[in-house]
Amino acid sequence: MTEARHDVLICGGGLAGGSLALALARDGLRVALIDALPHARRTDPAFDGRAWALAHASVRLLAALGVWARVQGRSQPILGVRATDGGAGAPPSPLALVFGDELEEGPLGTMVEDGVLRPALLAAIAAEPRIADIAGARVTAQAAGPAAATVTLASGERLAAPLVVGADGRDSGTAARAGISRRGARYGQTAITCTITHEFPHGGIAHQRFLPAGPLAVLPLPGHRSAIVWSEADTAAAALLALPDAAFLAALAPRLPATLGRIGLEGRRAAHPLVLSLAEAMIGPRLALVGDAAHAVHPVAGQGLNLGLRDVAALADVLAAARRRGEDPGSPGVLSRYARWRGFDTVAMAAATDLFVRAFSNDLPGLAGLRRLGMAAVTAIGPLRRAVAREAAGLAGDLPSLMREPPPEGGREGG
Ligand SMILES: Cc1cc2nc3c(=O)[nH]c(=O)nc-3n(C[C@H](O)[C@H](O)[C@H](O)COP(=O)(O)OP(=O)(O)OC[C@H]3O[C@@H](n4cnc5c(N)ncnc54)[C@H](O)[C@@H]3O)c2cc1C
Repeated sequence: MTEARHDVLICGGGLAGGSLALALARDGLRVALIDALPHARRTDPAFDGRAWALAHASVRLLAALGVWARVQGRSQPILGVRATDGGAGAPPSPLALVFGDELEEGPLGTMVEDGVLRPALLAAIAAEPRIADIAGARVTAQAAGPAAATVTLASGERLAAPLVVGADGRDSGTAARAGISRRGARYGQTAITCTITHEFPHGGIAHQRFLPAGPLAVLPLPGHRSAIVWSEADTAAAALLALPDAAFLAALAPRLPATLGRIGLEGRRAAHPLVLSLAEAMIGPRLALVGDAAHAVHPVAGQGLNLGLRDVAALADVLAAARRRGEDPGSPGVLSRYARWRGFDTVAMAAATDLFVRAFSNDLPGLAGLRRLGMAAVTAIGPLRRAVAREAAGLAGDLPSLMREPPPEGGREGG
């Protein structure tokens, strides 16, 4: 059977894989983007009811890829963050972690709903002639040879390229087939996500409440609306999900900032079992992993997708530099540059979120006092607060070119 040839094969056309396809095509590479789900399913605004807290660096990447212009008018800047500690029904702790105008570059982050971002990304992909967008096609096998790797689809069709990228999420078959094992843990928590409407404006403020069973995030959306990410122990979450809407809202209301007033539910509630799942390696023979395929983290800090977009921007830089030097993009030398660049950030973020979840998801009296003091200390110490804000905004460390401040006249140098 003949093989369709490309420069890069991306297995998984989610937000990470789709962004990578655009970034590589923009650098002149011919890319096949393969996803198991049909287009109609992924462009349905109800496909995923979540909303994403995008770091400043992620917004820069999406802007450089021509996606941000399609969503900006329907996004909500995060103008402040207020993190508090306390029991359900009890008032929030007086000692809080508060962020506001720490970044001279702009807001701390921006909220955008998946039902806005995903269709915009897929529309940008459809407009890019260098991307072969292969939807409704499940990857079932892959093999790495001396000059190319091949990927086999459920239909029996085979594709070949010097490099395969696994962007197929936290249960990555691409990683498993390459013999890359995973480590991590189940948190015993499930995140309930939904959108609420409320009586009073949110003022662009995101609230993070650390409750003993798990964190509750209230994230501002356009209008008098907020996205909820409520992490509870698995059994309690199942009971909350089984409640009728009115009873669910009655359980949620005492945990929300009183400033929002009366609340209502928009759309459906969804459940997301929470895990930490790290691939033991980010690369293999003629293979690189990006996004959740490399690292799935707890959503407590809203960093999972941001981390994946940092992989995308770094891999695009590494491959652009390899192309300029005439190197084989799937060679061990090129791939290890990518792994070295991303390895530390990945492990550091996974460790930080894991520590955070474990330190905050309990009501041990001594630890509660320490937590509150810690939050108040970060709030009080300006340079520390700014450093934390820059880290969360993805502006710390060695930034890939797609995440750097764009030149004033537009246009941008690769790598
Ligand atoms: C409750 C919750 C809230 C979150 N909030 C935030 C947030 O605010 N900010 C943030 O940065 N992150 C957040 N995250 C993390 C974020 O959801 C993930 O990091 C991100 O969605 C991962 O995207 P991805 O493209 O890597 O993987 P996925 O979204 O899992 O995409 C994988 C794709 O691969 C395809 N696929 C799988 N197997 C195959 C196959 N064999 N063949 C072909 N295609 C295949 C799938 O169809 C899918 O489209 C949150 C996570 C949770 C659980």
